[in-house]
Amino acid sequence: MSKRVFNFSAGPACLPPSVIRQAQADIVDIFDSGIGILEHSHRGKVFDRITHETEAACRQIANIPDTYAVFWMQGGATSQCYFVPANLLPADRTADYFETGKWAEDSIAEAPLYGTCHICASSKASKYDHIPGPAETKYSSNPAYVHFTANNTIMGTEFRSEPAVPAGSFLVCDASSNIFSRPIDVTKYGLIYAGAQKNLGPAGITLVIARKDLIASPPRALPKMMQYRLHAEKEGRYNTPPTFGVYLMGQVFKWILAEGGLTAMEEINREKAAVLYSFLDSQDFYIPHARKDSRSMMNFTFKCPTPELDALFTKQAEARGLDSLSGHRFIGGMRASMYNAFPKEGAVALVDFMKEFARQHAATASR
Ligand SMILES: *Cc1c(COP(=O)(O)O)cnc(C)c1O
Repeated sequence: MSKRVFNFSAGPACLPPSVIRQAQADIVDIFDSGIGILEHSHRGKVFDRITHETEAACRQIANIPDTYAVFWMQGGATSQCYFVPANLLPADRTADYFETGKWAEDSIAEAPLYGTCHICASSKASKYDHIPGPAETKYSSNPAYVHFTANNTIMGTEFRSEPAVPAGSFLVCDASSNIFSRPIDVTKYGLIYAGAQKNLGPAGITLVIARKDLIASPPRALPKMMQYRLHAEKEGRYNTPPTFGVYLMGQVFKWILAEGGLTAMEEINREKAAVLYSFLDSQDFYIPHARKDSRSMMNFTFKCPTPELDALFTKQAEARGLDSLSGHRFIGGMRASMYNAFPKEGAVALVDFMKEFARQHAATASR
């Protein structure tokens, strides 16, 4: 075993060690086929099995009914910024968007290519430090759909529950950085998408869960590769999918089930979050970015009293085996990402280091 490093990366991020070990073996030879996973045809029997097992495990995890399609696409969650309005927003309609961070901004930028985009709530004025509540939300009169980012990876904020949508509309959710971190009622959504590289697997594959009736007939002519309908019909292999990504996502799904499913994930994630937040609440050296009522259970954002100390913090942390703690340039400071596969010992090690660092630099802080 190489030296122990806790990987706090926001994505691609750490994966369960048992999944990595299984993948190591399956790269050489999967299912005793004499051929490794990287070398199997996406049309062959072995990959048929992988496709079906991955889909079945996903459905089992979230109890996804048959009225929903489960498939995967390429182009990252970022491509969903235009797939969504292209497939779901008629030219003469309005879609409502929650503006809660950088990824929401990216979606908001693409929607007007297809129809009208209405920002129904925004926390931009306070540097996206919170999730707007119902009192701050003003829907348009008849939105085609309501789009929200369930967890704002850069800001460290997360919706506690789904926003209530106006009658006749449905929710579209970018769940890239918190999918399957806690139980989810899929039937509250029209469409959910999630880039795999945070909670589900390797980069380069995006999970899509969509109500079948909503994607059956796009409101405009679209290139085939942009049609949800086609990717759903073809089990995510209209063209050659990232086969290793499908395989690994399937392994992560099986790991989630073996660990006890989404209630178990939530329990572990709450424990990890409590380690960090109870410390943050007990001190006044570090300055948290997210408002208390909007804190994320996946990404933890905080600052030292000065940018110089932030830089020193991340450097010294790295030397201790606490890796990738620099915050995104948008808000600076630090960001610790602790997705499903991140071990609780990492949260404890981080807080130990934070305490020590704060003691050493408390004098600078009080200035
Ligand atoms: C990481 C992330 C994305 C972007 O994913 P790509 O795969 O890089 O396109 C989009 N939305 C959220 C919430 C993310 O965390």
